[in-house]
Amino acid sequence: MNLILLGPPGAGKGTQARALETTRGLIQLSTGDMLRKAAEVGTAMGGRAKAIMDAGKLVPDEVVNGIVAERIAMPDAENGFILDGYPRTLEQAVALGRMLGARKSALAAVIEIEVDDDELVRRIAGRYTCGTCGEGYHDVRKQPKVADVCDNCGARRNFKRRKDDNAETLKTRLFAYYKETAPLIGYYFRDGTLRRVDGMADIAEVTRSIDRLLDRVEACK
Ligand code: AMP
Repeated sequence: MNLILLGPPGAGKGTQARALETTRGLIQLSTGDMLRKAAEVGTAMGGRAKAIMDAGKLVPDEVVNGIVAERIAMPDAENGFILDGYPRTLEQAVALGRMLGARKSALAAVIEIEVDDDELVRRIAGRYTCGTCGEGYHDVRKQPKVADVCDNCGARRNFKRRKDDNAETLKTRLFAYYKETAPLIGYYFRDGTLRRVDGMADIAEVTRSIDRLLDRVEACK
């Protein structure tokens, strides 16, 4: 099963993709994570992408399409994947359609996670992740059970905050979302794959909504 999680920054795509990895045995493919890794490792592409990401703008389509094409060709993607943060433009959506067509594969569902803008700002401003395993936390919504220790992997004092998670950059990121990515809602509505969940509910409730929705999608196959 191949899925897309669609929604603005802070909607909870990464959190829900991680939950789906466990419950559905799919792998999470986050283009943001892949680009951040390339920047950290210091590849030429990563270096160019870093400046764009820090400014909250979109990395060029051909770069991101190339990364995704390479990643979904890997053996662990054979059983299906959850795209988190891709596609973000119509051109990327068309490229993805071609990639899937070439594999004789298709999208099972595009899940739009709906969240109010004010809430996005609150979520982004307080979020951080474990630098070891990537588990997500929030200053108010989800703190580690033991201070400074990751609930998931036990790593100590290794939490990271993203450089682009600040109020100013979020404005640019939201602008990019509404201008470039929101048109995908219509695109996937037209091909019948679009589903919606209320992303304002708490994390576990959103996970249950997505689970129920995917059960229905599977039952219709
Ligand atoms: P994310 O982790 O999904 O919030 O992405 C962080 C940043 O990576 C974005 O603000 C963009 O600069 C870049 N990025 C991630 N995915 C894409 C994409 N599909 N197309 C263009 N830029 C992307």
